Amino acid sequence: MKKDGPLMVACPACGRKLAYDRSNRWRPFCSERCKTTDLGAWASEAYVIGGAPGEEEPPDEGDSGPDAPRRND
Ligand SMILES: [Zn+2]
Repeated sequence: MKKDGPLMVACPACGRKLAYDRSNRWRPFCSERCKTTDLGAWASEAYVIGGAPGEEEPPDEGDSGPDAPRRND
């Protein structure tokens, strides 16, 4: 029986290959940086759609609490 390695995926943010493995906490991103970058882009897009032009609010801060424990089974 052929033993497969970990599933390799490309990071949606930078395209770097990474193992889609439970040990990779940032999956499917390669790093926290890419994950937050992507989420930031998504958030700003949503904001542009929902917000009125010329109306800006300060970004929400202090919303980066500890990661909730996650069960993988
Ligand atoms: Zn990346």
